[in-house]
Amino acid sequence: MKTHSLPVYTDAAMCRRCGGLCCMRAPGISFPEDWSDGAGGVDWRALEVAIASGRWVIDWWEGDPRPDGDGTIAEAYFVRPSIAHAYFLPYGPPPIAGVCIFHDEERGCTTPRRPLECRSLEPNLPHSCETPAPPGFKNVKQMAAVYWLPHHAQLRELERQGSRLAAQAWIERHREEKAHR
Ligand code: SF4
Ligand code: SF4
Repeated sequence: MKTHSLPVYTDAAMCRRCGGLCCMRAPGISFPEDWSDGAGGVDWRALEVAIASGRWVIDWWEGDPRPDGDGTIAEAYFVRPSIAHAYFLPYGPPPIAGVCIFHDEERGCTTPRRPLECRSLEPNLPHSCETPAPPGFKNVKQMAAVYWLPHHAQLRELERQGSRLAAQAWIERHREEKAHR
């Protein structure tokens, strides 16, 4: 598996004072290593369960994400958390901006799979906190799309099944909620 070269930052005190403005703007982007099976591959079972939960979605970069690409790739997939207000809408294209499903005002980030983009965001208040675009890339999203390219076929299949899996999970959640009313 191709692994990243982004620096990882932590400034828990600053982020605690801030309360997670970045998480309220949009979720960070996952890289394959965030889903490692511990043996150099991707844990596809964990990813399938995550997509079925509706808490994670497969999103895509429009066009060829490779800095030296020849335009032969029409779209390139990557993985990221859902937007909280879209969690109950298991259909249609995933919205791109809004509060991350894993953001909790009291506890901060609640996923043990905190995406690489979130970890590489440099706390820099009162200025803007940013993950600088790596050389050759417009942003981290484009970079993630390139890192996920070796897994394009698996992600496309998961994306195709994703709506069905998420819809199934949504129906089950709805049933359980009704049963407990
Ligand atoms: S990275 Fe910046 S915006 Fe995000 S929680 Fe930390 S201080 Fe706030
Ligand atoms: S995964 Fe965690 S750190 Fe990343 S945007 Fe969501 S709540 Fe914030």
